[in-house]
Amino acid sequence: MRLFNSLTRAVEPVEPVEPGHVKIYACGPTVYRYAHLGNLRTFMLGDLIRRALELEGLAVTLVMNITDVGHMVDESSPEAIDKMQLAAEDEGLTPTELAEKYTRAFLEDSAALGIRPADRYPKATEHIGDMIRLIERLIERGHAYVVDTGSVYFDVQSFPGYGRLSGNTLDALRSGHRDLEVDPRKRHPADFALWKAAGPGRLMVWDSPWGPGFPGWHIECSAMSMRYLGDRFDIHTGGTDLRFPHHEDEIAQSEGAVGHQVVRIWVHGGHLRLAGHKIAKSAGNVVRVPELAQRGLDPLAFRWLAFQTRYRSEMDFTWEAIEAADHRVRQLRRRMAEWAPGAAPTSEAARAFDERFRARIADDLDLPGAVVLVNELVSSTDVPPAERYGLLASWDHVLGLDLEREATSGWRPSDRMRELVAERDRARAARDYATADRIRDELESMGLEVMDGPSGTTIRPRI
Ligand code: AMP
Ligand code: ZN
Repeated sequence: MRLFNSLTRAVEPVEPVEPGHVKIYACGPTVYRYAHLGNLRTFMLGDLIRRALELEGLAVTLVMNITDVGHMVDESSPEAIDKMQLAAEDEGLTPTELAEKYTRAFLEDSAALGIRPADRYPKATEHIGDMIRLIERLIERGHAYVVDTGSVYFDVQSFPGYGRLSGNTLDALRSGHRDLEVDPRKRHPADFALWKAAGPGRLMVWDSPWGPGFPGWHIECSAMSMRYLGDRFDIHTGGTDLRFPHHEDEIAQSEGAVGHQVVRIWVHGGHLRLAGHKIAKSAGNVVRVPELAQRGLDPLAFRWLAFQTRYRSEMDFTWEAIEAADHRVRQLRRRMAEWAPGAAPTSEAARAFDERFRARIADDLDLPGAVVLVNELVSSTDVPPAERYGLLASWDHVLGLDLEREATSGWRPSDRMRELVAERDRARAARDYATADRIRDELESMGLEVMDGPSGTTIRPRI
């Protein structure tokens, strides 16, 4: 498989450090509010890369962190206002209760979208000791310094590679900070906090060698990624906004501490937009997963919709588009039910389709290309229906659309439905079309599609 690496700005093959086993770290949610569809598009990315690698027969370990401390409302401000604490106060919950509430919701939303669980979900608050040890190492190695208030800053000028990921130079960062209020104790305006002294009224506080305080946001990902995946691992994902400062700072911390490259490939997902605006709580245009089901849509339809845009591009969300996606997913399941039972795709035509599908997925997760292939296969007469079924069922390991749902759920008409069908056939045989039409209306009002075939009336659930 090849992926676009934001660090080198090139598409590169995934060659795992440990042969046959790919290790992925995905930046996870800050659990102070519900995740919206944009966040979930990004969370889906890590799982899709995992599914794609598994299709190639590789083993994958995926770790996703849960940020439950340290994510500041405004990272550049010396006033440390933690999103978790602010939301906890708003909702009258403790930070722990708040984290539990939104972690649970995040896991439910992920499951509804067919995002398979990560192998681990480490929490920042459970890794403060790891973070403190990492900060001590950065101080020892001359990459961090303590200021008199009891805070610790990373010294960006001590790390020559700073800015490589985002393309920011230190000079540009200095002038960018000119109008901002920065801590005068910083050596460079872009120096960022590894540890922050606890101010008054602070709820989440830990002891440290520098006094009571709490970690900066970025250090958790250095500490937890290296704890669970080692100091050389393969892929790191996140939304495009995390490139800077979050991932730039993570690289500086991790590499500053161990003295060599830690992450090979950085993958960034494009934002989801609603009516032309980035989805964000502050913009008031948040769409959440439960709203899909409330509107009668299958949440998995969001996957089909998302597949139509390359993961790196911005994607527009509209209700019309997701309704069309919902219709298409149901249609695909219907076709699968018609083709069942499946057979192994052994014909030459089927094998050629399979190769093309795998090539699309391996090519930097070209899901728009895969969608085109799915559509082509559905209407292809070269591949026998049972093999079409077999192919789609195996592709569904990546697509995650539950395409076999209808074929395997074995929908059966109720006794009442069967009675009505028999009655209608008798009416039609007697040329009593008024009765036949009345029964058709009744069946339709039960959510059924009614068809007249050579062997009489057939019914199936309407999609
Ligand atoms: P947060 O919970 O705010 O830390 O964000 C979680 C993830 O969602 C991060 O990887 C962000 O980059 C990503 N993200 C935030 N907004 C969007 C959006 N509109 N579309 C796609 N991803 C987003
Ligand atoms: Zn992170």
